[in-house]
Amino acid sequence: MAKVAINLSTGSIQQEEIIVGIDLGTTNSLVAYIHPDGHPLAINDQGRGTIVPSVVHFPAGAQEPIVGTEAKDYLLTDPQNTIYSVKRLLGKSYRDLGEHATQLGYKVIDDNTEGLVKIRVGDRFYSPIELSAEILKELRLRAEHALKTPVNKAVITVPAYFNDSQRQATRDAGRLAGLEVLRIVNEPTAAALAYGIGLSPDEEKTVAVYDLGGGTFDVSILRIQQGIFEVLSTNGDTYLGGDDLDRAIIDYWTSDYQLAAYLYQNGSAQQELRLLAEAAKKHLSRHEEFSADFGGTLLPLTKTKFNELIQPLVERTIVSCRQALADAKLTPQQLDAVLLVGGSTRVPLVYDSVSAFFQQPANSSLNPDEVVALGAAIQADILAGNRRDVLLLDVTPLTLGIETLGGLMDPIIPRNSKIPTKAGRQYTTSVDGQVNLKISVYQGERDLVKENRKLAEFDLRGIPAMPAGLPKVDVNFLLNADGILQVEAIELRSNTRQAVEIKPQYGLTDEQVEQMLMDSLTHAREDVAARMVIEARTVAEQMLYQVERFVDKNSQYLTEDEITQTAAQTQVLREALETNVKDTILKAVDELESLTSPFAERVMNISIKQAMAGKKIE
Ligand code: AMP
Repeated sequence: MAKVAINLSTGSIQQEEIIVGIDLGTTNSLVAYIHPDGHPLAINDQGRGTIVPSVVHFPAGAQEPIVGTEAKDYLLTDPQNTIYSVKRLLGKSYRDLGEHATQLGYKVIDDNTEGLVKIRVGDRFYSPIELSAEILKELRLRAEHALKTPVNKAVITVPAYFNDSQRQATRDAGRLAGLEVLRIVNEPTAAALAYGIGLSPDEEKTVAVYDLGGGTFDVSILRIQQGIFEVLSTNGDTYLGGDDLDRAIIDYWTSDYQLAAYLYQNGSAQQELRLLAEAAKKHLSRHEEFSADFGGTLLPLTKTKFNELIQPLVERTIVSCRQALADAKLTPQQLDAVLLVGGSTRVPLVYDSVSAFFQQPANSSLNPDEVVALGAAIQADILAGNRRDVLLLDVTPLTLGIETLGGLMDPIIPRNSKIPTKAGRQYTTSVDGQVNLKISVYQGERDLVKENRKLAEFDLRGIPAMPAGLPKVDVNFLLNADGILQVEAIELRSNTRQAVEIKPQYGLTDEQVEQMLMDSLTHAREDVAARMVIEARTVAEQMLYQVERFVDKNSQYLTEDEITQTAAQTQVLREALETNVKDTILKAVDELESLTSPFAERVMNISIKQAMAGKKIE
């Protein structure tokens, strides 16, 4: 909340810094703040409405781009220089985008399929971060203009499924727009806040937040207890939203009214048809029929036909709802409320399907376009210290861990851990005199790191040379409230340390996250078997290393026969390793151990005797 103080000596009014809440949406963005009366309010600068379309247009020859409604007009006349849905590209590589890259009206560069995508406008290249920053800049200017005060701090929301890379990209966009981003908040969490849920400390509620916007779909189950917001589960699809409902209409019109040839010949017709489809969809939220002229063809659409076209898409969202409920281990009866977010929840079939699935009327009393921004403003207010009794907790969707010997995943922060969180484990070296330790950080549920996703790799250098097993290396993971991971490794004896902040090169799509979870279930049995073989191999390799070192150092205390026997048994173990069969390997390990442990004991006794002898006073 903005607080006002009066300087009694000068009589001037000093306003405390305002922290705004921003919903940086795929289709539309909004900025909100807490009005001095204590209520969140979406900013409507100069009567232009609260919604700023997330569209950036670059006029030929001009230095500065145009953002918002004016830019949206150019979708028709200048699609190449008019960028929309840029949020879908945030933190993504060309490969991540797949077929979606070619479905945009503008040019996405494909020269480096692994790196972050760039968008070509004329002879310039822009990153999605720069383009998002243009939208944020516009929101900041509108807020400054309407509130007549500088704005340089913000809370920005992201879909619950955004990964580290996408959250980081959002934060960077904020910084580029001159905003200090105090917190990245999940959209469903903001929505619940806007509905006032969780603002009184003794309230306990479990709610579902169903968010169908222009480009993304999310459903989250939240439990709110003693002012703590906990995300029990999330599900969704970053490629499902109002745009897809429009596309269903476009496809229908194109095929049933033979528009393909006309669209092919007429450059801007595709965008025109897109806008017409959206208009039809919105019209059918309140009426039974729609029709419009398109280049001489009359395009009609009834509500019944529209419902039939979008039924499969709506059904996909319901499948996600079912999964989210199952993950949260809840039944619909256990939910206190179902909150609707996003402009597309105005579609009656969506409202009806969601209410039917959750077996209760969904709550749509707040403007679904504004809900998230309003909640972000409330979060900003909490961060400003005006609502001390509220704390937010989210969960991390995938396990985070590091690679250990044999390519195994050693989980450090398990999936569904509440964030912020901190966890660590101690490791050591496996070879004598090892001065570097490679730390590879992975995300995923599988036992073998090669099946998971690598987030980062770094070397802890400068470990003083010590026998294997002696250095103590603490690896600490700190996952902050924004879902960004910091990894630190410290060798405790020498206090050598190294830290990295994980900014993965490109992100995971929701489908990939789901796929990774599915894979971990379907491959559970073979993963356990593979893990056991690798563990046996690691034991065997350590054993071979130690036995060889022992024989090298102590050959003078061993008989020739013993040396030959050891060499033979070592060979047996090597051959066992070749088989890759756990039991064969462990059997050979046991045999080598029973053969060599009496020698080791004898050598130990000799060296103790020598040490004692050395200490004798002559
Ligand atoms: P959002 O990303 O939450 O701003 O949602 C924007 C999406 O909501 C776009 O796909 C709009 O076409 C859609 N939308 C807005 N108003 C309506 C409406 N009255 N009926 C159906 N869809 C709507």
